[in-house]
Amino acid sequence: MGRSSIEELRLLGAKLSGKVIQNINSTFSGGGVAEILSRMVPLLSQVGVDARWDVIKGDNAFFEVTKKFHNALHGRHEEITERDLSIYMETNERNMKELQLYGDIMFIHDPQPAALIQRKNEIGKKWIWRCHIDISHADEKVWKFLEPFVFQYDAGIFSAPAFSRHLPLRQFLISPSIDPLSDKNRELTPETIDDVLAQFHIPKDKPIITQVSRFDYLKDPVGVIEAFRMVRKSISCRLVLAGGTATDDPESEKVLAEVQEKAGSDPDIHVLLIPPESNIEINALQRASTIVLQKSLREGFGLTVAEALWKAKPVVASAVGGITLQVRNKLTGLLSHGIEGTAYAIRQLLTNPDYARRLGQNGREHVRHNFLITRHMRDYMLLFLALENPADIIMI
Ligand code: UDP
Repeated sequence: MGRSSIEELRLLGAKLSGKVIQNINSTFSGGGVAEILSRMVPLLSQVGVDARWDVIKGDNAFFEVTKKFHNALHGRHEEITERDLSIYMETNERNMKELQLYGDIMFIHDPQPAALIQRKNEIGKKWIWRCHIDISHADEKVWKFLEPFVFQYDAGIFSAPAFSRHLPLRQFLISPSIDPLSDKNRELTPETIDDVLAQFHIPKDKPIITQVSRFDYLKDPVGVIEAFRMVRKSISCRLVLAGGTATDDPESEKVLAEVQEKAGSDPDIHVLLIPPESNIEINALQRASTIVLQKSLREGFGLTVAEALWKAKPVVASAVGGITLQVRNKLTGLLSHGIEGTAYAIRQLLTNPDYARRLGQNGREHVRHNFLITRHMRDYMLLFLALENPADIIMI
């Protein structure tokens, strides 16, 4: 990070002095939102912003409902019952009573805690809804249910123009980011990378193709195995599917079991269940990879893509959601469609290492210019200032 950009962030931080930004989401670990908050909150504090982070409490039944909401907002068909809607409301109402809402700016992430806005009439404050999902093709039933809550916010943030809908509130487009200095993304020594490979019993004898993702249907891990097996008919290689679970995602065990069954005892396929906070391990697996995949069926932003591009890895990823902001086809990676398309793209990169290297290098530059956390902090801080001082011209 350049000195001038840090100074600029400090200047913005000084203008926010005395204001508390209270982030609320549904999990401290697992998934991209927790990943971003775990970096954003301490870094904002370092530049003088009083940013805090709280999590709503919910039981398994609530998270089963919100996972269905998540899938349905991404456009997947889900049976949503009246009981599901009451579970959602009951949990939000309990949190409205139990969770202290103390921020000057209430920064609410995603649908799980969206109904906390019902306390706005009573406590005032400025409320932002940060939606990490592409809701442009959302299932109407779920959207109609959430809409009355979303409409009460002072502002909505989406990751890309195409993700949004026509809403009667101010909308801001702010894409996510990675922190290049975090354990997930910082440089590692070759010894550390080798240690991690040894820890997971992954030999370095063949090209390694990796997908890092929660075990989630929308990440299509079974499709990844099918694409890998097509590639392996002509090119010897290994597949690493590394992922963990998230406390707000009850589907992952079922998906993991399906993946393990599909992988069978194939010695070239490494299915790794990674504990939370395994940042160095994930960093090392990404760095050890010849190609990084992200074969999502739907995607919000896809932080794993930015992480891989930052490591100058050639990426093959589906042309969905925020992946298309990151992978410019044939320039910063390859966009693929379907299982055969993914296999074809992997083969193309494995047989053209110079081309693959060029894509990876371009990818790193693309992330440097667009998806690093300093840009993201600046965008958020300007938005906080705009909400707090609607009539002012903000000079920095
Ligand atoms: N991740 C992780 N451990 C895992 C799987 C994923 O730390 O076992 C991280 C991954 O490195 C990335 C984030 O979780 O930082 C996933 O974000 P992404 O936007 O790719 O997907 P999401 O899970 O939010 O749908």
